[in-house]
Amino acid sequence: MNNCIFCKIINKETPAEIVYENEQIIAFKDIKPSAPVHILILPKNHIPTVNHLGEKDRELIGELILTAQKIAKTQGVKETGYKLVFNVGKGGGQIIDHLHLHLLGGWPNEKERNVPGMP
Ligand code: 5GP
Ligand code: ZN
Repeated sequence: MNNCIFCKIINKETPAEIVYENEQIIAFKDIKPSAPVHILILPKNHIPTVNHLGEKDRELIGELILTAQKIAKTQGVKETGYKLVFNVGKGGGQIIDHLHLHLLGGWPNEKERNVPGMP
C-alpha cells in the first residue's frame, strides 16, 4: 500500500534489519526497541489492524504466532520467556496501520521488564 512504511520495508524500498522472511510473513528489528529483543512480525499483505482480520485469515494468524515462536528461539529468548503483543487501533497504541505482532524479551531480570505502553 502506498505510503505505508511497513509495505516499503516489505518491498525493500526502505531498509530494515530483517530476521525472518517467507512468502507470507516478514519479521524485522524494531527501530526504537522497547526491550533488548524487540522484533516486529507482520503479514506481507497490507491488513491494517486485528479488527480487519476475518475467517479467511485463520491460517495467517496461526503462522504469525508460530513464526514468533521460531524467532524467539533464534533470538535466544524462547526458554527465558517473552511477550507477544498486538496493539489495536489508536486507543490501543497502534501507530503504524499495518498489522504487526511485537515480540519482546531478553530482559536481564524482572525489574528491567517494563515496556512503555505495554502491560
Ligand atoms: P505500534 O505502536 O504501531 O504497535 O508499533 C509500531 C512500531 O514500529 C514501534 O515500536 C516503532 O518503534 C516501530 N517502527 C516505526 N517506524 C519504523 C521503521 O521505519 N522501521 C522499523 N524497523 N521499525 C519502525
Ligand atoms: Zn502496509
